Amino acid sequence: MGNQASTSNPQSSSRYQSSTLPDSFFTSNSQTKTETPPPYTRHSSAFYADTIDATKIVFRSSDGEYFSLDRKDCEAHTGALIPATRSPRSMVDLTETSTILRTLFEFVGPRKHPKLLNEKFDFLAEVARAAEKYKIFSAMNICAERMRSSGDRYPKLVLLYAAHHDYPHIFDECAPRVITSENLEYLTPLLPDNLHLPWLRYQARWSKALSEITSYSSIPGSAWSSNNCWRFCGQPIYQALGTGVHSLNDPSWVFSENVKRHTDSCSKCSLLCAGWKAHADKSIDDIGVFSEKCMDETPLVKVE
Ligand SMILES: [Zn+2]
Repeated sequence: MGNQASTSNPQSSSRYQSSTLPDSFFTSNSQTKTETPPPYTRHSSAFYADTIDATKIVFRSSDGEYFSLDRKDCEAHTGALIPATRSPRSMVDLTETSTILRTLFEFVGPRKHPKLLNEKFDFLAEVARAAEKYKIFSAMNICAERMRSSGDRYPKLVLLYAAHHDYPHIFDECAPRVITSENLEYLTPLLPDNLHLPWLRYQARWSKALSEITSYSSIPGSAWSSNNCWRFCGQPIYQALGTGVHSLNDPSWVFSENVKRHTDSCSKCSLLCAGWKAHADKSIDDIGVFSEKCMDETPLVKVE
């Protein structure tokens, strides 16, 4: 049984639903809110680092700031922040700047973690990379979500992040954007080895779709009989498709805006373009999702 709120009025188009919970459900009993201090202490000198007690670990950023963290927090909340070879009371040098570490260390400890909303992409990417490198578990999750949200603006970098840190759902989302907008010659060598062959399969699926779209067979023989129809409709579409798979980034432009001046006054071409675009949309749909269509195929050459 669904809850009462969602079944009481199924015809309603309102996005708001009622709940049986009292309005005071989420209100806090505490009248005073105290700011939680960060889970680290910052020092500008190595003096403190040398005299630190055994319950703490001191990290030094690449720009020479010292961060003292509780050893138990580091052990509980991170998987690779403490080097396996570290001798007791020695300082740990990290390659990240203090700006990155300040944010990263906010995740090390039993407290509310940063939401990383509205951060600049370069900063977010550096925090995400460091979170993966040191296996700071709670940071990894939120970074993955924020990186995913940046996939429409930075598809190539987000795809590479997903590829190297095992986020297949993010890779799947970025793959069509990357393949229709990036120079793949420079991208492929940056992918992990295990994705080279699947990526080639994916490229092949897009090339096949492009050739299906270009050889659309439902164009009537009389379609380009008028000089104007060819010059202002057929030719610009073939020219766009001739630029390759990148033309499939925006089929609406290829089959609509690109030829709008002509199709607005030519119903025959307007109809033809609508059918052609529907065919293109279906061909692109048929390419499928990268991780479903390209990862598990039998190898091209089976080595016994
Ligand atoms: Zn026409």
